[in-house]
Amino acid sequence: MERLASRDPLTGSLNRRAFYAAFEQAFGESREQGHELCCLMVDIDHFKRVNDQYGHAIGDQAIQAVAHCLHAGLRLADMVGRYGGEEFSLMFPCTTLAEASELAERLRIRIGTEAGSRVRMADGLGLTVSIGVSAISFGAQTPLELIDQADKALYAAKEGGRNCVMVMDVLMPGLNPTEQLELQVRRVTPRSSSSTVR
Ligand code: GH3
Ligand code: MG
Ligand code: MG
Repeated sequence: MERLASRDPLTGSLNRRAFYAAFEQAFGESREQGHELCCLMVDIDHFKRVNDQYGHAIGDQAIQAVAHCLHAGLRLADMVGRYGGEEFSLMFPCTTLAEASELAERLRIRIGTEAGSRVRMADGLGLTVSIGVSAISFGAQTPLELIDQADKALYAAKEGGRNCVMVMDVLMPGLNPTEQLELQVRRVTPRSSSSTVR
């Protein structure tokens, strides 16, 4: 019963409510113990096109394939939630931003090379994701604030051409607010890599 209440039936990921509850707890523990905690937001690229071209049932299988790659690529303490339709939220406890960035990039590559081919009856389907990463050390005061930061980095990944990872970056002293905004995210994915998997 408990599993049914906390899991998204399509992907087996935590549902939004259960993810948030676990995230809230990890957030509190992290702050208490001074451990790093990273949050990732993952969104499938151009997913409307998948539905339009192949239909909703194949679209569902595509969401499952991406979830499979996410789960398969993670460590025991990491958590995956289905945040919305084709959007996932992940948390990595006791993980530095550098480690989280590396893991996010590995997940992106794995999804780009493997997820599409896991979907039966959809020959040639290519699936990629954009990922935003933030860490509690950037000063989020609430779990929602940390999710918002990762979401902002995700938005930058979409703006930056999709199929890439963007992470929050240190603020530079002495810059005006507009310049700060541009410098708050850093691209992890090399420019040449994101264009090859499309
Ligand atoms: P972007 O790269 O900017 O993310 O483009 P996108 O097309 O993915 O944009 P958007 O996030 O707006 O579209 C998400 C689409 O996902 C819209 C909705 O119809 C579809 N969707 C949401 N939930 C489900 C679901 O459970 N199954 C299927 N098949 N489609 C879904
Ligand atoms: Mg999308
Ligand atoms: Mg979306």
